[in-house]
Amino acid sequence: MTEPIKEPKVEDIKTAAEEKACPVQKALYFVTEFLSGPMCGRCFPCAMGSYEARIRLQNLVEGKGVDADIRALKRIATDMIEASFCKKGKDTGKFILDWMATDVYQEHAEGSCPDMQCASLIEYRIIPEKCTICGDCKDVCKDLAIFGEKKQPYKSGYFPFEIRQKRCTRCGECIKVCPVEAIVLVAANAKKPVGV
Ligand code: SF4
Ligand code: SF4
Ligand code: SF4
Repeated sequence: MTEPIKEPKVEDIKTAAEEKACPVQKALYFVTEFLSGPMCGRCFPCAMGSYEARIRLQNLVEGKGVDADIRALKRIATDMIEASFCKKGKDTGKFILDWMATDVYQEHAEGSCPDMQCASLIEYRIIPEKCTICGDCKDVCKDLAIFGEKKQPYKSGYFPFEIRQKRCTRCGECIKVCPVEAIVLVAANAKKPVGV
């Protein structure tokens, strides 16, 4: 006999989603988990809306979000609250809409994650004025994203240490090992160079 498919409980999804720091990631997690269970499809706003909401939220988290995504999310969530037959659909709409009372969706559409959690919207950068050219960050970077030369007593004219953003996977290991706090986490849309 085949085991019945276990449907995730809305309260459990909500608790797990709340553990995420970024509200857009919370909503994305909530909708993704909601969709991972069986979809009964009895009402259109929930059945279609939750799929579209996931795409729109994904856009915002990945730094591809625009104002149209926010407008669509508002419409979807409102429709789900008003027209869903069951609590599950209404709760999902409410979860999305609650966070819209803040500016956090808008900030994502403008290219920044205020909680510094969305990898596409943040960058690790080295402050050249603080860097002591020790090379510890380069040694720890598994993605070979840090370029530069260690200080050598007999040599002058070093290549300064710098992070190549296209290679960086935002793992955060370099910031942990820098002995002089020369590496900072900034919004990807912040103007370069970073200050001291
Ligand atoms: S709101 Fe409830 S009843 Fe309607 S499609 Fe979604 S899960 Fe089914
Ligand atoms: S955040 Fe990770 S991948 Fe990016 S430069 Fe630092 S150690 Fe390398
Ligand atoms: S660990 Fe810090 S001080 Fe050392 S090279 Fe990297 S950024 Fe510069």
